[in-house]
Amino acid sequence: MSSDRYPFREIETKWQRIWDERKQFRAVEDPRRPKFYCLEMFPYPSGRIHMGHVRVYAIGDLLARFKRMRGFNVLHPMGWDAFGLPAENAAIEHGVHPAIWTYENIDNMRAQLKKMGISYDWEREITTCDPAYYKWEQLIFIKMLERGLAYRRRSTVNWCPSCQTVLANEQVEGGRCWRCDSEVTLREIDGWFFKITAYADELLAWCDRLPGWPERVITMQRNWIGRSEGAEFDLPVAGRPELKVRVFTTRPDTAFGMTYAVLAPEHPRVDQLVTDEAERRAVADFRAEVARHTEIERLAADRPKHGLRLRAKVVNPFNGAEIPLFIADYVLMGYGTGAIMAVPGEDQRDWEFAKQYGLPIIETVKRPPGWVGEAYGGDGVKINSGFLDGLTVDEAKRKAIDWLVARGLGVAKVNYRLRDWGISRQRYWGAPIPVLYCEKDGMVPEDEKNLPVVLPRDVQLSGKGGSPLAEVASFVNATCPKCGGRARRETDTMDTFVESSWYFLRYCSPKYDKGMFERDAAEYWMPVDQYIGGIEHAVLHLLYARFYTKVLRDLGMVKVDEPFTALLSQGMVIKDGAKMSKSKGNVVDPDDLIRTLGADTARLFSLFAAPPEKDLDWNDHGVEGASRFLNRVWRFVITHGNELRAMAMEMGGATRPPQSPPSTLGAATGPQSPPSALRPTTEAGVAFRRTIHETIAKATQDIERDFHFNTAISAVMELVNALYAFEAASHDGMPAAERAALLREAVETTLLLLGPIAPHLTEELWSQLGHTESLFTRPWPEADPRALVKNEVTLVVQVDGKVRSRLQIAVGTPEERIQRLALADDRVQPWVRERAVERVVVVANRLVNIVTRA
Ligand SMILES: [Zn+2]
Ligand SMILES: [Zn+2]
Repeated sequence: MSSDRYPFREIETKWQRIWDERKQFRAVEDPRRPKFYCLEMFPYPSGRIHMGHVRVYAIGDLLARFKRMRGFNVLHPMGWDAFGLPAENAAIEHGVHPAIWTYENIDNMRAQLKKMGISYDWEREITTCDPAYYKWEQLIFIKMLERGLAYRRRSTVNWCPSCQTVLANEQVEGGRCWRCDSEVTLREIDGWFFKITAYADELLAWCDRLPGWPERVITMQRNWIGRSEGAEFDLPVAGRPELKVRVFTTRPDTAFGMTYAVLAPEHPRVDQLVTDEAERRAVADFRAEVARHTEIERLAADRPKHGLRLRAKVVNPFNGAEIPLFIADYVLMGYGTGAIMAVPGEDQRDWEFAKQYGLPIIETVKRPPGWVGEAYGGDGVKINSGFLDGLTVDEAKRKAIDWLVARGLGVAKVNYRLRDWGISRQRYWGAPIPVLYCEKDGMVPEDEKNLPVVLPRDVQLSGKGGSPLAEVASFVNATCPKCGGRARRETDTMDTFVESSWYFLRYCSPKYDKGMFERDAAEYWMPVDQYIGGIEHAVLHLLYARFYTKVLRDLGMVKVDEPFTALLSQGMVIKDGAKMSKSKGNVVDPDDLIRTLGADTARLFSLFAAPPEKDLDWNDHGVEGASRFLNRVWRFVITHGNELRAMAMEMGGATRPPQSPPSTLGAATGPQSPPSALRPTTEAGVAFRRTIHETIAKATQDIERDFHFNTAISAVMELVNALYAFEAASHDGMPAAERAALLREAVETTLLLLGPIAPHLTEELWSQLGHTESLFTRPWPEADPRALVKNEVTLVVQVDGKVRSRLQIAVGTPEERIQRLALADDRVQPWVRERAVERVVVVANRLVNIVTRA
């Protein structure tokens, strides 16, 4: 089987070397040329690339090479998201330093990626654990601190007991750690935050202005930001009017139905409300119980709610009623004010809680006739609501807010589900937070001229307890940049999502040492025109990167509002019905595949097997099929090489034969020009040329407009079938020159269209045809409109509005002749023979309409 396989190993190594030597994919800013910034999400250097990587990089490379051929100045870089936990865990497990582990992994993965022949500008490679990289985010941290966009506070955080670190809400999935799947618990901890909520409105507004993003990603971002409008107002504590509980509600119109109120168990006001030691103990026990559950569980609709009734009561300001006050697990501190007015008539969770604790339920919206159910969340006329009675829900909302504002009791308020981004990690392998704590001055940012605050190498990693940096005396004990006295360094490191929030900017000028990036370069390249990465980053990374870009814009550093114009979220690679993973034993190693069938086959298969946004189901037959197809292309060109070269020479001497024989892989020489002005004289020639140009039109549209790479590849496969068929047919009467010229046009078109998909094979065959310039410096082929013109069209013939026949006629046939042909047609005759024809209407290239007199 493998005996007739083309020499992919030799070819792939050869062209990777030549591209590298020519620095062919080096990107240089050139304001005269339109730019295209093509970016795949950079990988974490785990040590091995997997098929998911192969897929996403094959997609990115197809687009990068395609856009180059379309005349764009393309930036296509690669780097490493190099900080993070696995390095630290490997250090604990195997005793190897995270830096050594990380850089070794990078070397391995770079070598693997180079074997795939991706057209990266490797001179722009970046590694985020390099102090020359994270220095700049430390600088931005200080600027954010100055502007109140970075701040420190005590908070309840998600804590992964296994990773021993804080997790952002976005990193908790179903109550479990996104990384290690351990159950997440809550903890009180001091930590650093980025004030992403200050940008909530803008992040939301721009969701409507990103047409190049998949709708489902936009929806996930909108939901995550979670904007809701309502009112915030105070409930005075009965008998202690100086104490108030502030609540947020999206339904101020239901205030007359408030039969109790609820505080989040962790609400600080609770401690002021408890009356004695017994109640204090009960509250403490209740809090301990709640802390055993995650926010996700606490919010689950189907879960029984738990509450503790406090002795204190509060007053409903709308009607003066004293109502019970609870702490309950279904109210969270992080949303709104951490306290709610409970309206069981119109809120299902309140309804369930009221039923459970025997609390009254008042309906404040008239139910529609025949309505049976529990809480009613729909529209209707207000009842039992004092001055709001008779209004609609919307009218009542507005009037209730006006009432609160007029009395100074409350305000209209917009709330967001989005919370500030907790960036502190009690881990070693991350960028140090550039802050010190001085005995005299308190918290002081590091002086900019002392940056970077370098992560120390010498550290003990046990995986237990707090930040490992706290144990490194030489790091912790430092000098206060303000007073020169003794100060203690912050030992938390930054969330690695900070590094990935701006790496795309660093690629614009990766070696620049006077700032985060060179302004002109960033202005030229940004925004990223096409970003490609997994749907798992729909919220996490993409929202942070959008936020960080806006912060940099407001610091006057970039001009763009958004970092990514278009986003392609590729599906997963699955095998035997599950995502490829070591634990499932269904992993296909890209290295094995590249070794046995070649990188081009791996790339072709991963682009052909499914549209990019769908999951790709791995199957060995498909891989074999991809390999067979490439062999078929190879065989044709090698078999007909002499003929193709000779003909090209004869047709005007545009192409000289290669100086080295085609069977060897030495560099060929000779200028070239595609036979684009070809005008076939025979019917078969015209038809074949139409196939060639229809393929160009289809492939171009599929790639450029729809990302339907699989159907583009299908079209090229059909062209190759047509090529074999054309070559095998006798074509009596076709001039030899026409035949050869068509063969050459078909072959060159095939190679050009296939180039971005299987770059090594096509580049080699291209050079074997006698071209000295790289295939990837050639323009993408244009469909010749003359070739697309059909000689014949099919006309529908109707008699009195009913289809009776179809006519095949030559394009350009005079109308009068068409009328005659239609009337004489065998299948039309029976319908017109007995009647008088009143008129015959010809709609060009479409139909003939015969109208008879009834
Ligand atoms: Zn974990
Ligand atoms: Zn000081």
